[in-house]
Amino acid sequence: MKDLTINPATARDLPPAFSARHLIDGDWVAGAQTFERRSPSHGVVASRSALGTEAETEAAIAAARRAFDAGIWSRISARERAAILLKVADLIEANVERIAVQETLESGKPISQSRGEVGGAADLWRYAAALARTSHGDSHNALGDDMLGVVVKDPIGVVSIITPWNFPFWILSQKLPFALAAGCTVVVKPSEMTPSSTVMLGELLIEAGLPAGVCNIVLGYGQPVGSLMSAHKDVDMVTFTGSTAVGKRITQAASGTLKKVALELGGKNPQVIMPDADLENAADAVTFGIYFNVGQCCNSSSRIIVHADIAEAFVTRVVALSRQVRFGDPLDDSTQVGAIVTPEHTARIDAYVKDAIKAGARIELGGEPLPVAGLGTQFYQPTVVTNVTPDMAIAREEVFGPVLTVLTFRTLDEAIALTNDSDYGLSAGIWSNDIHTCLEFARRAHAGTVWTNTWMDGFPELAFGGVKQSGQGREIGKYGFDEFLEVKSLVMRVGRDSRSPWVTTSA
Ligand code: NAD
Repeated sequence: MKDLTINPATARDLPPAFSARHLIDGDWVAGAQTFERRSPSHGVVASRSALGTEAETEAAIAAARRAFDAGIWSRISARERAAILLKVADLIEANVERIAVQETLESGKPISQSRGEVGGAADLWRYAAALARTSHGDSHNALGDDMLGVVVKDPIGVVSIITPWNFPFWILSQKLPFALAAGCTVVVKPSEMTPSSTVMLGELLIEAGLPAGVCNIVLGYGQPVGSLMSAHKDVDMVTFTGSTAVGKRITQAASGTLKKVALELGGKNPQVIMPDADLENAADAVTFGIYFNVGQCCNSSSRIIVHADIAEAFVTRVVALSRQVRFGDPLDDSTQVGAIVTPEHTARIDAYVKDAIKAGARIELGGEPLPVAGLGTQFYQPTVVTNVTPDMAIAREEVFGPVLTVLTFRTLDEAIALTNDSDYGLSAGIWSNDIHTCLEFARRAHAGTVWTNTWMDGFPELAFGGVKQSGQGREIGKYGFDEFLEVKSLVMRVGRDSRSPWVTTSA
């Protein structure tokens, strides 16, 4: 479409294909076979990776189990663990550019967003280091004169970490430093589409001095690697971020050993726009909320719920802003909307839009893929869809692309009912200048995070996660850290037992 703001291909030397290997017990393992990841934007082979088999997955789990049981990480002091996590944070900051370029080539996301993701992740490592040193249990000193109770926290054990392609470095950093801070050992499997940044992080872990076997990485696909990591008897917990469908399969696989499962899944996140809101700010946040990471974001605000009185003017404003969003070469510093991850996913996004049109929806902007000069065809125009009803698939399912759907309402009760009319419950937001409206919405919205007059702000201190089919358990913050700990109660007698014996002896 000619009235979009398009960034054509920039002339730039691309790095050679990254060679990614498994990390098992401190050794880099090439594997008998490899798989390639082709850049969705630049068409080049971005990486060649070892293709994980059952044997390599077994070896990685065995290494993590041995390392945990030997206590080389789980039983050292939190001060020593924190020191290594802090070194990793420094190394991440020193390597942002290399990792970010690779992540953009593999995922298609804009380079500025890759830099933000990788650089920002260092803070998660620092916060996890702080938690390692400040975590403690409870003591109970009023159980009676001869009793003392102490509740201690132990690392849960060997943790499988399975991650998606949309924020490979950030999501790994929402899990790994917290698991390590708790004293766990891990096996990590990144998405087959974005393996490299996890391997680059593995290099930094070794440089920081993490002992062999504490963090193992196996590259490859859900079958056999991910499913074995979910079912294996020597794994104590699986933490997964990805689609709801795969999350359900992981829960089934884990049920054989009743291991703990933490899930961060999909979303269909609404922003409610009240007429008294700062509409300029709200329109900008809606634009950011749908196009950030090319809309391939679990927290994408893919449905907006706008008061009927302002809907037309608000949509006009959002469409005008959408035309100015910079769309095109992800390696251009100014690009805001890059490439879609695969051709199949581009077709899936388009099918949602075409089905909505058939069902009576109206396209205000976009609505089609758009090749970018000098790059490939895996680009989808910023798209705004109105005349949507709540029963349409585009209003209920995760499209995972730069496609905004607009619903309208008249009363706050109606807006809250629409918000909660979803199988998902990851995040929700409201824009209003009335604190009472904001608080009522915040209390009644079924979501793990509620934003008022902002969108997608997050902090390492605040727990993140979803309700309903958006997941179970929490990540980051103190609550996220606690997921990697088991609680153990110590019941101790102090002094001699003054009670009558249980068995009365006759003599
Ligand atoms: P996906 O579910 O297809 O894959 C995620 C990971 O699971 C990959 O590493 C994949 O190889 C692996 N996998 C596939 N089948 C498996 C199996 N049977 N057993 C074990 N592992 C298996 O998800 P994706 O397409 O990579 O990512 C997009 C999805 O992730 C979206 O639904 C998005 O909403 C969700 N997501 C959620 C959050 C969150 O925090 N809630 C964050 C980012 C992405």
